[in-house]
Amino acid sequence: MRYVVTGAAGFIGSHLCARLLADGHEVVGIDNLITGQQLNLDVLRARSSFQFVEQDICSPPAALVPVDGPVDVVFNFACPASPIDFEPKALDILNVCSAGVLNTLSLAREKGAVFVQASTSECYGDPEEHPQRETYWGHVNPIGPRSPYDEGKRFAEALVMAHHRSLGIQTRIGRIFNTYGPRMRLGDGRVLPNFIQQALEDTPLTVFGDGSQTRSFCYVDDLVDGFVRLSRCDEVTPINIGNDVEITIGQLAQEIIELTGSASRIEYRPLPQDDPKLRRPDITKARAVLDWEPKTDRTTGLKSTIEYFRTVLTTRHQCRPA
Ligand code: UDP
Repeated sequence: MRYVVTGAAGFIGSHLCARLLADGHEVVGIDNLITGQQLNLDVLRARSSFQFVEQDICSPPAALVPVDGPVDVVFNFACPASPIDFEPKALDILNVCSAGVLNTLSLAREKGAVFVQASTSECYGDPEEHPQRETYWGHVNPIGPRSPYDEGKRFAEALVMAHHRSLGIQTRIGRIFNTYGPRMRLGDGRVLPNFIQQALEDTPLTVFGDGSQTRSFCYVDDLVDGFVRLSRCDEVTPINIGNDVEITIGQLAQEIIELTGSASRIEYRPLPQDDPKLRRPDITKARAVLDWEPKTDRTTGLKSTIEYFRTVLTTRHQCRPA
């Protein structure tokens, strides 16, 4: 089959491309490299069945490089996704969640392809229902610092559903919960790249708030497998894809210190505004519809992520001028 993946140089997008290529498919990857990394493309470019197009999917349709040939599935993974990007890249995020999604939906329509939207647990905001089921409408501050991403992704879901209902496009929506693994960006600001880098460099682990807020971390290979299954099912309404094992951020810091054997201590910093207090997916629907559940336990996933960052940091230190 032939796939288009937007956000191909991003953390999850690059893993998705790698999985599709390994399964024997052709992939056209698109990225404007605003947060994606060339490094992530290196592993893909070696494959003759991978083609990369550097472009912004928000460009006016007439300015977009056309995708030639047939396409079976369009995966839309393009969007800055780290909370540290929500304010400085607010307009880019709102643009990619509106014009970018619209252009990508048009591509799927033109090709008669299935369209798969990478949505997010941020649609639930700071949830008042726990764990979060797909039927929950969320608790989002529409004008807060997270709103470009939260509301952008909610608008994107509305766009996708409207295209399905009005134009009959075959659409799928996966709501991604916190995901981790190799190829996350160093200095990305998210909790795991931060904690792992801090632990490996023996500097204090920066826990925001008192560390009692929770998240549920899914290893990237599991998440990608969920999305591949999503593209092959016929469920149009959103499905949560995440790991339902929950941990406090304080406990996570302790685990990273233990797994790295670090001498780091913990340092408490102010909790960012509107930081969700609890987050855990209810994955009953994914189990039933996709016959999917995460397989990688946290210790295994964290060890491989730590090894990745260890290599990246070692290379970076070796490359520094003396
Ligand atoms: N966090 C933290 N220290 C950091 C980075 C993040 O304590 O150095 C916290 C953050 O406040 C949030 C959780 O870890 O409660 C997960 O943050 P992340 O940015 O990874 O993703 P989010 O789930 O907020 O989208």
